[in-house]
Amino acid sequence: MSFKALLTTKQGETLATSLVTLEDDDLMAGDVTVAVDYSTVNYKDGMALTGRSPIIQVFPLIPGVDLSGTVEASSYPGIEVGDRVVANSWGLGQTHHGGYTQKARLSGDWLVKLPDVFSTKDAMAIGTAGYTAMLCVLALEHGGVTPDRGDIVVTGANGGVGSIAIALLSDLGYRVVASTGRLDQSDYLRELGAAEVIDRATLSGPGKPIAVERWAGAVDSVGSHTLANVLAQTQYRGVVTACGLAQGLDLPATVLPFILRNVTLAGIDSVNAPQAVRLEAWSRLARDLDLAKLARTTKVVGLTDVPEIAPQILAGQVQGRTVVDVN
Ligand code: NDP
Repeated sequence: MSFKALLTTKQGETLATSLVTLEDDDLMAGDVTVAVDYSTVNYKDGMALTGRSPIIQVFPLIPGVDLSGTVEASSYPGIEVGDRVVANSWGLGQTHHGGYTQKARLSGDWLVKLPDVFSTKDAMAIGTAGYTAMLCVLALEHGGVTPDRGDIVVTGANGGVGSIAIALLSDLGYRVVASTGRLDQSDYLRELGAAEVIDRATLSGPGKPIAVERWAGAVDSVGSHTLANVLAQTQYRGVVTACGLAQGLDLPATVLPFILRNVTLAGIDSVNAPQAVRLEAWSRLARDLDLAKLARTTKVVGLTDVPEIAPQILAGQVQGRTVVDVN
């Protein structure tokens, strides 16, 4: 049986990705075979396809860190033919064939059964970015940040993590302040639930080690000076969740927010999150995410569009979430 997929190859230091036709025998080992409906383009996929970071570790490889679809064959306990499933990260698109394909074979350990409220398209509109936004929300809650504590700042607001974090937090009753470099997109951010929109330039330059207390909590997907300034502006016993590096992977901060204000810096990793954490995140997404807002953040493209979108997402030119219809 043949199927279509994107395949990334490496010549010297240069990566190239093209549409190919593969056979079942080209798939890697795994106890579940999935007829893939959708994948998505995350920031990490942008880094993988452009080669900006060595995300892809085996060549040639089908890239794509996310997929959703229907189980076609399974010898994995608890996963049956016909189950609708989602896979986020693990080795997908890094060491194992990823999501930009019509067919995938992978470990059942990597799969989450999709909550009934979500279509396979919704699952990829959420994708790693949306599931990570929920991990940030869970970390804020874990740190005791309730809506009455004050404002939550979401950086990288127009991005995938940012957009879904705004939607989730505002519907949970938090007052959300969106930090963006695209002030012309303020209407979009307000429709998602932002109560206030600020220019990211107010956070992105070198700042003071400690500053006026503004935030009860934060979802930061940009790192660098922005994260340092957010920490410096966080209220006593506030929680800052750090999941991204869109501005940079440096953290030019001091210990003062931690030792003077008892601020918590909560690290967020979606790639190797244990299955129990994933199940909690997906079940909370099913409960808390407004599907109308999700649809507002999403556009759909085809497999052949992906290589063109990869550099655009790194350049901060993509808004919200991009779903890839692989069929
Ligand atoms: P997007 O590209 O969709 O969003 C990133 C946003 O950051 C942009 O839309 C832009 O928002 C802002 N931004 C871009 N460049 C800069 C810059 N130079 N300085 C300040 N802000 C900038 O990416 P995702 O939402 O998919 O991912 C966001 C980050 O989170 C990435 O770094 C990604 O690697 C990371 N991530 C980490 C995960 C984890 O497991 N820890 C999982 C998922 C993502 P605006 O235009 O509104 O300013």
